[in-house]
Amino acid sequence: MARFILPDDKIPTAWFNIMPHLPEPVDPPLHPATREPVGPDDLSPLFPMALIGQEVSTDPWIDIPGEVLDILRLWRPTPLVRASRLEAALGTPARIYYKDESVSPAGSHKPNTAVPQAFYNSAEGTTRLTTETGAGQWGTALSFACTQFDIECKVYMVRASYNQKPYRRIMMEVWGSEVVPSPVDDPESPGSLGAAISDAVRDAASREDTHYSLGSVLNHVLLHQTVIGLEAKEQLGLAGEAKPDVVLGSCGGGSNLGGIAFPFVPDDSIRLVAAEPSSCPTLTEGKFDYDFGDVAGMTPLLPMYTLGHDFMPPSIHAGGLRYHGDSPIISKLVRDGRMEAVAYPQGKVFDAAVQFANTDGKLPAPETAHAIRAAIDEALAAKELGEEKVILFNYSGHGHLDLSAYDDYNNGRLIDA
Ligand SMILES: *Cc1c(COP(=O)(O)O)cnc(C)c1O
Repeated sequence: MARFILPDDKIPTAWFNIMPHLPEPVDPPLHPATREPVGPDDLSPLFPMALIGQEVSTDPWIDIPGEVLDILRLWRPTPLVRASRLEAALGTPARIYYKDESVSPAGSHKPNTAVPQAFYNSAEGTTRLTTETGAGQWGTALSFACTQFDIECKVYMVRASYNQKPYRRIMMEVWGSEVVPSPVDDPESPGSLGAAISDAVRDAASREDTHYSLGSVLNHVLLHQTVIGLEAKEQLGLAGEAKPDVVLGSCGGGSNLGGIAFPFVPDDSIRLVAAEPSSCPTLTEGKFDYDFGDVAGMTPLLPMYTLGHDFMPPSIHAGGLRYHGDSPIISKLVRDGRMEAVAYPQGKVFDAAVQFANTDGKLPAPETAHAIRAAIDEALAAKELGEEKVILFNYSGHGHLDLSAYDDYNNGRLIDA
């Protein structure tokens, strides 16, 4: 059997909170001006109280509201698939499984958190949300979620993507969002995620009716993504596997990786691996320090691996995962040695994407291809050692709107920075 499907009623009804499983708590975010730990009052202009509570909660499980489950059921539980044809092509004794998060309305894992974020904002009376988006994955996810709760949504899209990638902008507009290029005050600049965050935060802070929504990095975002790992655990059981030996995910801000990996953290015998681009090597070459989440220095300071909040990846980089920082929880797991990190140049990442498309048929997002690269390398290492390893990776999204990057790869225009 290739696909392991959970019945509809096996959708997880509570999120897995990693906090009580950490040997010590993550350090708190600091106020950008005073450098004192931020309190709920500092965050309430931007976030609903329910999410501020989840950000610091130490409850082992947090119930998923019924209104959220009703929407997640549109595509969850998602399939777990065995990549047997990739295994055969590699000639590996390893068994490779992927969790297919590309089946969501927006085509990635991101709606898993967009929906609860829109719900909690709506429940507390917020009628408008702002956010940033790079290539548009997060913007589409939040646009979809906002339309489910009749919330107005304004998306600040990194200008270079806004100009080069109209299709995700069009999806956001179909779901009723207003999309503008960022930075708004510098029409010459190609923009960056950090600058777009500044635009979105500034907008939300200036209006009573508006909150801000972030698609990765924060604790509550990773919490919402744990439905991925919880389902995968059940599905590996259906596949007859006691447990995976290694769990892999691509890492931009850490949300799809945290989502698949956190439920496996308590079992020390399971390796966890983050895959990132070598042109934005946050975990492998960044330093662990307090840094801002945005370029302008308006957000709280977070304890994380960072390349510096003014970091700009080289413009030749086509593979996404461009954020300068990373989730504080992921950063802590890496720093404590519980999670490993690897970085790949984009040529090797697209080699893996194309190999996967030709064996198992699916055309991954370039971000997702980092996890596929890591899975292939794990499977080849298992072959070398003659080991029957069980490899689980997160298929975080499809690449159907990233075809120009594939065109560059096919025509030799994708060089390694
Ligand atoms: C946004 C995105 C990522 C990277 O973000 P994380 O928060 O690190 O998961 C990876 N894959 C896809 C398909 C994405 O859309």
